[in-house]
Parts: sequence; C-alpha cells; structure tokens
Amino acid sequence: MGTTEFENIGFGSLVFNKTAMKKYLSKEAFDSWSSCVLQRKVLSSETASEIADAMKTWALEHGATHYSHWFQPLTGVTAEKHEGFMIPTDEDGFRLEFTSKELIKGEPDASSFPSGGLRSTFEARGYSAWDPTSYAFIKDRTLYIPTVFFSYSGESLDKKTPLLRSCDELNKQALRVLKILGDNESKSVTANVGAEQEYFLIRKELFNKRSDLRLCGRTLLGAPSPKGQELDDHYYGAIKPEVSKFMKDLNRALWKLGICSKTEHNEVAPAQFEMAPFFTSANRANDENQLTMEIMRRVADDHNLVCLLHEKPFAGTNGSGKHVNWSLSTDKGENLFSPGDSPKSNRRFILMLSAFLKGVDEYSELLRCSTAYSGNDLRLGGLEAPPVIISVFTGHYLESLIDSIINNSSFEFSEGSLMEAGKAVLLRIPKDLTDRNRTSAIAYTGNKFEFRMPGSSQSIASPVTYLNAIMAKELKEVADKLEGSKNLEEDLNNLIKSMLKGHRRIVFNGNGYDGQWAEEAKKRGLKNLSNTAETLPEYMSEKNIKLLTEGGIYTLTEMQGRDEVHKQKYCSVALIEAKTMIKMLHEIFTSVALFSSKISKASSMVLNSTILSEIDKESSALLKNCKALEELVEKASSFDDNCALMVFCSKELYPQMERCRKSADALERLTSSDFWPFPDYTELLFSV
Ligand code: ADP
Ligand code: MG
Repeated sequence: MGTTEFENIGFGSLVFNKTAMKKYLSKEAFDSWSSCVLQRKVLSSETASEIADAMKTWALEHGATHYSHWFQPLTGVTAEKHEGFMIPTDEDGFRLEFTSKELIKGEPDASSFPSGGLRSTFEARGYSAWDPTSYAFIKDRTLYIPTVFFSYSGESLDKKTPLLRSCDELNKQALRVLKILGDNESKSVTANVGAEQEYFLIRKELFNKRSDLRLCGRTLLGAPSPKGQELDDHYYGAIKPEVSKFMKDLNRALWKLGICSKTEHNEVAPAQFEMAPFFTSANRANDENQLTMEIMRRVADDHNLVCLLHEKPFAGTNGSGKHVNWSLSTDKGENLFSPGDSPKSNRRFILMLSAFLKGVDEYSELLRCSTAYSGNDLRLGGLEAPPVIISVFTGHYLESLIDSIINNSSFEFSEGSLMEAGKAVLLRIPKDLTDRNRTSAIAYTGNKFEFRMPGSSQSIASPVTYLNAIMAKELKEVADKLEGSKNLEEDLNNLIKSMLKGHRRIVFNGNGYDGQWAEEAKKRGLKNLSNTAETLPEYMSEKNIKLLTEGGIYTLTEMQGRDEVHKQKYCSVALIEAKTMIKMLHEIFTSVALFSSKISKASSMVLNSTILSEIDKESSALLKNCKALEELVEKASSFDDNCALMVFCSKELYPQMERCRKSADALERLTSSDFWPFPDYTELLFSV
C-alpha cells in the first residue's frame, strides 16, 4: 500500500484531547474528568491538579514555552495573555511551573474590554476560569486553555459562559421531556453545531492599498466591475491552483488542531469560498470556529493573500454568511430532530419539531437580535442572503403533515399508508423528506436546523445560545405540562396540536427572496426588522428578559451590559467607517485634480471639455456630500446616549455615506485607472 495524504497530518496532534489525556493521565483521573464533563459536574481538586501536571508535560513535549488562558470577551473575537512556564531559582537556574491554580484561574487585566458598564458598577478586574469541557491546544509555542471570563462580582463578561449555561439548561429540560416519553436511559442531551464559514480571498498588495479594507474589512467605495457574478461561473467552479494550495495548508493547520475541516468549494461571488467542518458539540464548535477564523487569516497571510471575513466586502456581489447547523442528540447518539423508523421516535420528533417552531415564533426578535450588527445589515435581504424576516422552512412534506395534525385530517405519509386523523404521534416518516429550498432564515434539513442568518465575521456563541435557550424554555413548558399526566397519549397529542396551531405562521416554504414574501409575512404578523437600529431595541423586551433570566442564561445586569455593548459597537463601527470614507474621499480629490489637469492639456478639445465638465459636475457633488458627511461626524460627538446615536447613524450617517459613494463611484468611472488612488473592483475580485 502506498502512503496517503492523511498519513502524516497529525490529526489533533496539537490538542490535549481524549487520546492525549488517556496517555498522560491516570485511569482514575481520566474517568473522573469524563464523568464530570458528561454530567456537568465540578472536578475535584485532586483531578484538576493531576490534569494540570499532565497538561504541562504534554505541552512541554510539544514545544510549548508559554501558556495562556484563552477567552471570548464581548468583542466577538478571542483574547489571550501569555505566561511563561519558566520561574527563576536561587541557583541561577530556572524551573518550569504550571499548577492547578494556574490552570483553573487567571486574572487578566480586563479594564479595556467592553462590558457595557458592568465593570464601572462593580470592579475593574476580570477573571478567567478553565472550561474543562473544551480541549486545550498548542499554537505558536503556547498552550491555550479555553476559559470563561467574568467580573469580580461573578458577572459574565464573555460569550462562552452564557453558551455553557444554555447548554446546561437545554440538557436539563430535554432530559425531563425524554423521561416523560419513556426514555430513562439517556444521561445527557447535547446541542451539536456545524458552522459553515464563507470568506473572500484577495491579494495582500491590493488590500494594503485600500484604507477601507484595512480599517473596516470591507470596501466603502468602488464602482462595480463590468463582470460580477452574473455568469455563475465561479460557484462550485474548478478551484484554482493558488487557492487550492491555500485550502490545503488551511486544512492541514486545522486538522492538527483537531478541527475536521470537511467541505471546501468556490462560492457565488468571484474570489469567494466556503469551508465547513464536521459538526461537534456547541461549545467546541464555537471554540473551533473562533480558531478557524484566525487560522484562515494567518494561512492567507502566508500565501500573500488576505482572508476577508466581513459579511459584505464588496457591494453588489454576494455577501458571506455563517450558516449555523444546529441539532440535538443524546449521549446514546440519537438525534432528536431525526424522524426515526418507529412510531416512538417519530412521536419524539414531532414533539421536538413543534416545540422548536413555537419557540422560533415566540422569540423571533431575539434570534434576529443575535444577527443584528452593521456588517450584517449590508448582507441580509439581498443577493442570496436570507431575508430579515424570520421564518422556518420545513419542506412541503412536513408542512402537509403539520397541517393534517392541526386539521385533524388524515395524511398519506408514505405510498398507500394513511395516518389516522388525530393520531399525530403514530407516524412513520420517511428519512429524506426535505426539498432543498434554502431561502428562509431557518431551514430544516433532514435532521438539523440551518440558521442561515448569522454573518461570516460574527461569533456563533450568541445565535447558538439563543437557539438553546429558546428550545430549553419550550421543553420546560412541555415537561411542566406533561409530567404526571394520567393520559399521556392524549395530552401529548393535544399539546402538539395546540403548539402547531398556535405557531403555524412561522412555517414558510415559498421563496423567501421573493418580494411578495414581505407582504405575506406582514399579513401573518411576522416582524420585519430591517436593520440593526430597528432590531436592537427589541433585545430588552420583557419576554426576552424573562426567557434569559429565568433560564439562567444571563442575569438582568448581564443583559443590560450586553445591550449597551451591542449599541456601542454599532455606533463605533459606523463612525470608523465614516471617517475612513472621508480620508479616502480626500485622496480622491487630489487624484482627480491631477487627472483633470493632465487631460486639460491634451489635444482633443471636444473630448476634453466633455469629460472635464462631467468630472467637474461629479467632483462638486462629491465635495458637497463629503462636507455634509464631515458635519455629521462632528455632530455625532455631541450625543451622549447610544440609543439615539444608533438611530442617527442609521438614519443620517449611513445614508449620507451612500450619497458620497454614489458620487465617488461616478468619478471613478470618469477617471483613468492610472490616476485613481485605489485598486478597483475588477482588480480586487479577479486577481486571485
Ligand atoms: P449543506 O446541505 O448546507 O451543504 P451539509 O449536510 O454539508 O449541508 O452540512 C453542513 C454543515 O452541517 C456541516 O458543518 C455539517 O457537519 C453540519 N451538520 C451535519 N449534520 C449535523 C447535525 N446533525 N447537527 C449539527 N450540524 C450538522
Ligand atoms: Mg448549508
């Protein structure tokens, strides 16, 4: 047998995973860690101490000199602070130290992380604490320890803590429901996530010539290229050798970190690509996605490319999303959203489906909030991105099934066999029952839901936290109603029926990209929250507070802090973008002046005067618009309330930037590219 590509990849070799733990830990310590993780219990100090020792030995043997608590502050990206293992000794030498104390708790200076006021009310200090449910790993000579991050008074300052809490709550409520359905075997229910990651690759030298890309991650200006994505010749096209080399290196780097990068292909827009890993538990999937984004940027850099993770780097072409595939499974490996072969598993499936539909309908604003930020405003609702209206695509088969349950009518569930009216729970459902329409915000895809709204740059923690929290709340309600039921079959049937009936409106299997959907959704009473400024005020609604505080996901103070951070971030991004645009417009003025003076000296009078007069017209429009933008930026500094500033940015600043862009792009068309100060869309999109 010859060697395969996979022989020396060292899959997971840089991860302190189960295999490494088994090798470096005593059997007792390993078993104790396993059962604590499974049952979500606290580790004993002896076990923690042994794990710290083992982790140190393993890390040193793998070349680490430092360790770092790795956490996920509200910035949405990760943070780290490295400490060396080395400690000086009295004998002019050194020893290497890493104890359970260092493993378990850290104290990074937190004063500059956003907290939405949580810190000023309490204490500037922040603490990080080891999350034993995710794996430590090695990168750049450093042992990274996944941690949660919280304030002196115990308030969560990060995105991981609420996610872990939501996993716990979901586990608890789902087990209650399973028990009611007669399952006393399952010990845990886990949310699984596979996050498809879209991205663009452009040349580094071009990237460096544009302030907008460097400072904002997207182009703020740029006339469309004569050719865009209209021929669909990039989508699933042959991967170019240069990109293939990038993907190969990316895969190898991810595999070493135990991330099972699986799918890779060209996406719709020129220079756009996708990577999807094999799914894993929600907490790890979140860590993995953060690592993936970082590794993508880094590998691109090694190839003299830049990986753009912004959701809309180029106007007029497809944006990048991050589809969050989400499902629930038991420790026995049973998928709760999988229609099974037996009536029993289908009863469970229909109950889970009903609870999910009810939850999405009741908390659609919260799900919308988890995807509301300025980058995604540019993406949602256009060019193959899902609309801003939340609905669930079930496929026509499930839709008919739902209707038959609601209407008490019979349903032909497979050729020749009818479901008796009213017997919703006694079905046999064929496995492959979904059509491939993916135009809604959430699509059922056979055994999981694909939440298609999140944008490519964002952390998946909040979308997943909310999916978990919502499902947990609905399952709690189910359990509260059915526990102790004297007539389970009947009560269950009635409950399913009423859940489906009450929330039928959230199911939509038509084309979500079609303009008529907005009208239809309005008739159904579904919310159409078109942008961040309209959406974020929904976050602190009474029902959301109740859901998240009663579910133990956030305290009220934590929610208030996050609310503030989201608004602040929107405003900060808007102002950075406006200022960057102003800087670029000034570069344009200089360049256009040079160009004008050059052509005014040229010989063809007719042509010159025509071009010059057009340039003059557009230049004065741009000057006027730029001046107005500068005034708005000035005005922004007078706001002391982020809520009002957010509305101002949305209603005045961004529209003014749009006007500037229109004039600037018109000027770009009139100016010779030799004089234009930045690489244009054709260069950016068609050089890789
Ligand atoms: P698509 O139909 O969109 O191409 P795939 O079936 O290729 O989707 O899966 C996309 C993502 O969904 C992958 O990351 C995959 O691992 C993940 N996925 C597959 N099954 C599940 C599941 N049961 N739970 C969560 N994610 C899943
Ligand atoms: Mg998909």
